[in-house]
Amino acid sequence: MIIDCHCHAGMGDGLTGPWDTRAPLQDYLRRAAAARIHRTVLFAAFNSNYAVANQQVARIVASNPGRFYGFAFVHAERDRGHVHERVGIAVKHYGFVGIKVHRHDAAITREICAVARNYALPILYDVAGEVSVCELLAQEYPDVNFIIPHLGSFADDWCAQLSMIDHLVRHPNMYADTSGVRRFDLLEQAVKRAGAAKLLFGSDGPWLHPAVELAKIRALRLPPSQESLILGGNFQNLLSSVKHSESLPMTGRLAKTITTSIWF
Ligand SMILES: [Zn+2]
Repeated sequence: MIIDCHCHAGMGDGLTGPWDTRAPLQDYLRRAAAARIHRTVLFAAFNSNYAVANQQVARIVASNPGRFYGFAFVHAERDRGHVHERVGIAVKHYGFVGIKVHRHDAAITREICAVARNYALPILYDVAGEVSVCELLAQEYPDVNFIIPHLGSFADDWCAQLSMIDHLVRHPNMYADTSGVRRFDLLEQAVKRAGAAKLLFGSDGPWLHPAVELAKIRALRLPPSQESLILGGNFQNLLSSVKHSESLPMTGRLAKTITTSIWF
C-alpha cells in the first residue's frame, strides 16, 4: 500500500500564495490515483484559525475515511493553553492520527510535545531549516515520534538537509519525509546512512505533483522490502501506537455535510 504522508487540504484565509489560500484536491486525487497512491495524510493549509481549518479537513477525511488520514494543525503560540483541547477534539471526534506544526507559525513547544505523548501521536514538524531543534526534541521527548518534512528544509537548504541525516541516524524517534527534496544525492545518503526505516514518502500535494515525488522514491532503486517501508510501512508503524480507544470518527454525519467548495 502506498501512503502519501504529506498533503494539504481545505481553504486558507490568507492571500499570500497557494500555501495560505487554497489547497484543492481535485487534480491531486486524479494524479494520485494514476500513480496508484492508495491513501493520503491530509492537514490544513496555513490558516489564522486552525480550529476551523481542522474542521474543514475533518469533513474531507470523513467523506472518504478509507482514503484519508487527518492530522491536527496547531499553532504553537496562538493555540497556547488550548492544544490539549484542540488535539483532543481532533482525535476523539475527527479520528485524526497526528499533529502538524510549522516553524513559520511559531517554534514547537513542550505543550504540543506533551499532548502528542499523551495520545501517542506522531508530530509532523516543519522546522524550516532549524534542524538543530531535533537534538532537543529527541533528548526531551524520546517517546514521541517526529516526522521532519522536506528532510528539514523546503527551501532546499543543503546544510540543513545534510544535518538532518545525522539526526535520523542518531535518534530513533526522528523521521523525515521526502516531499520537495530536490538534491537526490541527499535522499540516497539518507537511506544509506539512516536506513529505509527512517524515511516516509510524502508529496506536499496538492501543490507538488504526487507522481513526480513518488518517482524519486522509485529512482532510489531499493529492494522491495525497503521501498515498501518508505512508501507506507513506516507510516503504518508510526500509527500502531496511536491511542484511539475513545475516538469516534464523525464519518457519517460529516460526510453528509461536506461541500464541494471545500475540496475544489
Ligand atoms: Zn506542506
